[in-house]
Amino acid sequence: MARFSQLSAVAFTALLLAACAGKAESPAASATEPTAAATATVASAPVPADDNLNATLWMQRSVEYAGSTETAFALAKIRLNEALKDRRWTAAPAEQTGNFSNLPPAIICDVDETLLDNSAYQAWNITAGTAFSNETWSKFVAARISTAVPGAVEFTNYAASKGVKVFYVTNRTVDGEQATRDNMAKLAFPMGGNVDTFLMANEQEGWGSKKGSRRAVIAKDYRVLLLLGDNFGDFVDAYKGTEDDRKQVFEASATHWGHDWIMLPNPSYGSWEAVPYKFDYGAAPDAMRDAKRKALTSWSGQ
Ligand SMILES: [Mg+2]
Repeated sequence: MARFSQLSAVAFTALLLAACAGKAESPAASATEPTAAATATVASAPVPADDNLNATLWMQRSVEYAGSTETAFALAKIRLNEALKDRRWTAAPAEQTGNFSNLPPAIICDVDETLLDNSAYQAWNITAGTAFSNETWSKFVAARISTAVPGAVEFTNYAASKGVKVFYVTNRTVDGEQATRDNMAKLAFPMGGNVDTFLMANEQEGWGSKKGSRRAVIAKDYRVLLLLGDNFGDFVDAYKGTEDDRKQVFEASATHWGHDWIMLPNPSYGSWEAVPYKFDYGAAPDAMRDAKRKALTSWSGQ
């Protein structure tokens, strides 16, 4: 500790000196010639604009993102412990019918951007100047290179250590199931033992992108303690609608948020992004962007 303080004092002094030197020099330097950084910007080729640059940079590089996900999982751990003690507790009231109080406990987790970090795919789209496509996404899934969202491995293993079955209800499709299992096993997520805990989209009849039918299958045999996701559709089936429609459903679920439904941050993609252009994924990129700009609430500038 003493050594740390000493080093910190030395480092602080050096920083102070550097700052003072910078302050003294900068006006003269800016009056005569551009700074090195400005020269580099002017000299380089135009940089293509991409709507996902800031979101992806934040998710890949910021401590603010890691802090947000760690916070969500820390809350999830507290709620898990509360839920284990309260046998009336269920996170799936729509699907959990009958007497569920003595069923074994489970949690239901979405995968992408809830437990797995696929920002390398977003980053590739930015640098390649491309957008999401099923073809490139399938190749990315097959590469098995997703990393773990900060806090996700620790939290899911904590749940498993308490005898809670960890289910993965994902809209990755069944052809990507083995790659997803391999990727998650490599990252040390709980793999379910002798229970099939991976419920992929279209794996069975009626398992579409809406997740209620898959939650119902789990809720027949387990008491569902928590839902975790990064998208409204990880919690409710009525996620495709106007902004007002979604707000109504959101507000009707008010008691769940932060209690038995834990939302992870994802500014990069999700159903929220498609609301302004009415989920018309075939629209021209400029039409989508125009609809999103028109949805903003703006200061007048006066
Ligand atoms: Mg997701």
